[in-house]
Amino acid sequence: MRVLVTGGAGYVGSHTVYALLEAGHQVWVLDNLSRGHAEAIPSNLLTVGDIHDVPLVVELLRRHRIEAILHFAAFALVGESVQHPERYYENNLRGGLALLQAMLQADVRKMVFSSTCAVYGVPTHSPISENAPTNPINPYGRSKLAFEWALADLAHSGQIGYAALRYFNAAGARPDGTLGEDHDPETHLIPLVLQTALGLRPYVEIFGTDYNTPDGTCIRDYVHVDDLANAHVRALERLHVGQAIVCNLGIGRGYSVREVIAACQEVTGRRFVVREAARRAGDPPRLVAEPTYALQVLGWQPRYRDIANIVETAWRWHRSHPQGFRSQ
Ligand code: UDP
Repeated sequence: MRVLVTGGAGYVGSHTVYALLEAGHQVWVLDNLSRGHAEAIPSNLLTVGDIHDVPLVVELLRRHRIEAILHFAAFALVGESVQHPERYYENNLRGGLALLQAMLQADVRKMVFSSTCAVYGVPTHSPISENAPTNPINPYGRSKLAFEWALADLAHSGQIGYAALRYFNAAGARPDGTLGEDHDPETHLIPLVLQTALGLRPYVEIFGTDYNTPDGTCIRDYVHVDDLANAHVRALERLHVGQAIVCNLGIGRGYSVREVIAACQEVTGRRFVVREAARRAGDPPRLVAEPTYALQVLGWQPRYRDIANIVETAWRWHRSHPQGFRSQ
């Protein structure tokens, strides 16, 4: 298929660009590079521009006869969303609506949307199935859920088909070490731990050791970024107009912060300082996916199931790119 990937220079977006190319699709990328990296993707695919720019998007969609959009362009930091909710509604919701407007004008009828388990808020049950109530507790999760509602209503009216893929914790890197995670500022656990192992940070902090979990630290479902990319390709290939797919993407197994740090110590073979710190505001104690619906609807199963294997891929990236894409 001929597809446009918004936010395709970002972390999950860029891995998906390669997965799409490997599956034989024709890919164009729209990214404003506010958070993404031009170096992450082949330069001939990239248009530097913004999803708010409806005439630009319509022109791109028509010129390349695009059949579907994979929409990753968004802000994704919970803490920042609490500080600056306006940015999140502006980019994630209003930007998304502008993209929908362009899509309808250009008669493009399918969208695969990068959603998040943050739409569930603090879940009452674990693992979390797609039927769990959506009750996001921060502007990031709310902005993503609000856009899911818009998609649902458009699908219901028969104008589009969409898949909203609710990721748990995206992690890891391309196994050859050429592509990986590079955020500024970095807030995610695995990159922070590996940067500490490289000596780029003096210590790593555990945010909260008094949670009601076996070792007192938060539990998350870490899913490899290439597995996420593969799920997007599958969603794209299965989707038809009028359809609404809402699906969790996780491995169905949780690891605690201490377990992740232990896996990083084992994989890197390095010693580094670990400090116990206060809880980070807004962190639910346990977020683990019930992943069976993804198998049913997308035929998707993660290939990476062990945290050490995921960390190994991330370690190859961080070791060869200690300054991220600036290392090249
Ligand atoms: N975390 C931590 N220290 C850090 C960064 C994260 O203990 O320096 C914890 C965080 O509180 C959460 C888990 O690691 O329980 C995963 O956090 P991350 O920011 O990677 O992803 P999130 O779950 O927020 O999407």
